[in-house]
Amino acid sequence: MTALKPLVVANWKMNGLKTSLAEIETVQSQATSQSLYETADIMFCLPATLLHCAVEGFTPSQISFGGQNCHVKTSGAYTGDISAEMLADVGAKAVIVGHSERRSDHGETSATVTLKAQAAHNIGLQAVICIGETAGERAANLTLKVIKRQIYDSVPKGATAHNTIIAYEPVWAIGTGLTPTPDDVAKVHDYIRQEISTYLGATNGDTMRLLYGGSVKPDNAKDLLFASNVNGALVGGASLKSEQFLGILECYKT
Ligand code: PEP
Repeated sequence: MTALKPLVVANWKMNGLKTSLAEIETVQSQATSQSLYETADIMFCLPATLLHCAVEGFTPSQISFGGQNCHVKTSGAYTGDISAEMLADVGAKAVIVGHSERRSDHGETSATVTLKAQAAHNIGLQAVICIGETAGERAANLTLKVIKRQIYDSVPKGATAHNTIIAYEPVWAIGTGLTPTPDDVAKVHDYIRQEISTYLGATNGDTMRLLYGGSVKPDNAKDLLFASNVNGALVGGASLKSEQFLGILECYKT
């Protein structure tokens, strides 16, 4: 299998005002001067309020932009929601779907997540589909079982390595400072790749990017992101400050 170029995705969640775009400016200039784009692709998934501004402000750029959620429908009477088409319209290239905060805070089921991913694919966006076990499921030794179920229930049948990225995010590691061991990450990622191959065929299985997410910081990036079958990271807290995000990107420099 050929090595997949890592992708590091910033998930700003409900953080960031217009002035915060200065952080991206710093990432952009440092990534250029340190040739960080050669070793990793970079994406910022921003609040919808900042997306248009960022795309306009940073074009042309090697950084790509995405949303953090989309509705399953293209348009209609869904007050407060945003469609995949709207994200694409302002220049997004991808959208995160099925983040555990959406699953737990908004009751999103895997059935909804697969429809959202499908909506993203229909308009030409990549879907970054999040999966991961809770602390209770991990304690009950159910991690792989949960992961398998989430893959089959959250990833659309027609998904490809081109339009889909899987982010493995153990729920208990998100924003807690806790992380699995690199061996645990490798075990889950090897399993995800094997299951994706079974579900979507060997070509998709071999070439789909699998990101790890959950308390990735500059000081643990090298351990976590070089585990087997990890092709990048989904980064929350440490993506808000350019210095920390750059510290993670720098782990790919030899
Ligand atoms: C996330 O929410 O996607 C995430 C990985 O958050 P953090 O890096 O803060 O754990």
